[in-house]
Amino acid sequence: MEHIPYGRQSISAADINAVCDVLKSDFLTQGPVVPRFEQAVADYCGVAHGVAVNSSTSALHLACLALEVGPGDIVWTTPITFVASSNCALYCGAEVDFVDIDPQTYNLSVERLTEKLVAAEQQGKLPKVVIPVHLCGQPCDMAAIHALSQQYGFHIIEDASHAIGSRYQGKPVGSCQFSDITVFSFHPVKIITTGEGGMSVTNSAVYAEKMRRLRSHGITREVGEMTEPPHGPWYYQQIELGFNYRMTEIQAALGLSQMHLLDTFVSERQIIASRYDEALATFPIIKRPWQHADSFSARHLYVVRVPAAQHNLVFARMRERHIGVNLHYIPVYLQPYYKDLGFSSGYCPIAESYYAEAISLPIFPTLLESQQVTVLSALMEGVAA
Ligand SMILES: *Cc1c(COP(=O)(O)O)cnc(C)c1O
Repeated sequence: MEHIPYGRQSISAADINAVCDVLKSDFLTQGPVVPRFEQAVADYCGVAHGVAVNSSTSALHLACLALEVGPGDIVWTTPITFVASSNCALYCGAEVDFVDIDPQTYNLSVERLTEKLVAAEQQGKLPKVVIPVHLCGQPCDMAAIHALSQQYGFHIIEDASHAIGSRYQGKPVGSCQFSDITVFSFHPVKIITTGEGGMSVTNSAVYAEKMRRLRSHGITREVGEMTEPPHGPWYYQQIELGFNYRMTEIQAALGLSQMHLLDTFVSERQIIASRYDEALATFPIIKRPWQHADSFSARHLYVVRVPAAQHNLVFARMRERHIGVNLHYIPVYLQPYYKDLGFSSGYCPIAESYYAEAISLPIFPTLLESQQVTVLSALMEGVAA
């Protein structure tokens, strides 16, 4: 029986040619294609700067460092995300905490955030940064989160790893209208891919410069940034402790080529999502993903909810039929590493009831209508069993 994965990249002949051209060129890393890819993503998003790195995990780390997250600081995010959205704060020596999700969008809840801010202000424990995650591609309520950031004085990093090509109130996610920095992932299951890769976008020249320096060891070649005059034409200066988080030319060439098809990928995903929507409309026992009117989603994931009592069984039935259903995500604080930090079950009840019911159905541009029929019949069989 054929295997149907939950996500899969689409690579065109043009993508392959673009990568081959780089392989025949003078530069495999730190050449002219990385800045072209950065500019293409920045132009698409309507934002001033793009900083390409080797993963979204690295982009999150550098974004936290650009916002000067360090020991003694607290960062808040949603528990329904990949661990990278919260690990980035721990890399900086900061503490992390979680805000429960909205029961309809499954994104960080603005009501819970508001309550938690009121309590944190009384205790003198306000967060330095809040990291909303645009789960499945559906943008968070950024206008409301931004208004709270003005009131309580925190920074915002949007984790848009699922959401390049999404729009919020008609503007591209990544415009940073309501945030300091937005990060994207180009892992093969995401909307566009570079194999591994990520990018931060921002309207701040200061943050962009800092992230550029930190992705390459904290080294500068700009005389203006140096603390002493250059010793000679060979000179470079390390002015802070950075990393090697650079993106290669090979990755950037693939990403730049993939950008041409971004809108096509998104509309193909939307067609697949509406087919699922239509087929499930008459099965209220299976809860379809709800979309806010402000949202135009890139549809990275299509998450349905089934009754908790049948959850395991449905999963097993579908996997037996070689359908690569998945679960996005295990509440981060239930991971053993986080339990050791003091978190325990019951902390975010809405997130935990979501976790007990959620299933990600296959969705990717080349998924066939006939494969969707197979997925749906296995799902309905599982629920009926
Ligand atoms: C995929 C993902 C990441 C990490 O992306 P990488 O590019 O694999 O490092 C971070 N956050 C979310 C929400 C993701 O889905």
